Amino acid sequence: MPSSPIRVTVWHEHVHDRTNDAVKKLYPDGMHTVVKQAIEEHLGNDVTVRTALLEQPDHGLTDEVLANTDVLTWWGHCAHDQVDDAIVQKVHRRVLEGMGLVVLHSGHYAKIFKKLLGTTCSLRWREAGEKERLWCLMPGHPIADGLDDEYFEIEHTEMYGELFDIPTPDELIFVSWFEGGEVFRSGCTWNRGKGKIFYFRPGHETFPIYYHKQVRRVIANAVKHLAPSRSSAPVRLEAPCIDPPLSPITTVHQVDQSLHDH
Ligand code: ZN
Repeated sequence: MPSSPIRVTVWHEHVHDRTNDAVKKLYPDGMHTVVKQAIEEHLGNDVTVRTALLEQPDHGLTDEVLANTDVLTWWGHCAHDQVDDAIVQKVHRRVLEGMGLVVLHSGHYAKIFKKLLGTTCSLRWREAGEKERLWCLMPGHPIADGLDDEYFEIEHTEMYGELFDIPTPDELIFVSWFEGGEVFRSGCTWNRGKGKIFYFRPGHETFPIYYHKQVRRVIANAVKHLAPSRSSAPVRLEAPCIDPPLSPITTVHQVDQSLHDH
């Protein structure tokens, strides 16, 4: 573990747990508090966790908060379009600089997730309270640490099915089977710049999924795994012209500077 705690920000849209009775009952203090507890339960003194909400100024993601966040978790569902593009741009830059991003469930349609992945991130879905079985494809992966079988089950959930329109993941850690017949890539990682992204499917708000033992463990594992590495290698976010060159070039070449002036 790093010598200093991983600084985690749990971001939550926080709409349905204020407006829908079933969700209020499951998450009386908001889903973000339960996700925060899951991370603290497993990582203890190795993390400091704060929460940030859509309704707060800058959605709780001020420059100061983002600069002091090692891993951001993201849950949104009905208010993706209310997230300010300027904040999305700042989060995007922080990911490229090395901040980890854990995107949960309906966050598949979050602006930040689509921007980082570059695809529609669309999928099939059905809310029928069916069983889900999540198979672990990479039992040696740190995100699967602590699981005691080749799969775990969620008794009642919303189905997400393929085709999930995402770029091929760098790592595919979980695949879900659903009682109704579909399958889904439920636990995927991607590298973007110096940062890592983990998408984890479980979490529909009318089922008690963030109280589920293995789901909580996987989220905490992901936070630990996505924390920025100790690498001091620089990350370049612009495209500078390298002139003069690093070593002499003998070619005689006339540059049409007008092509580069923009
Ligand atoms: Zn859902």
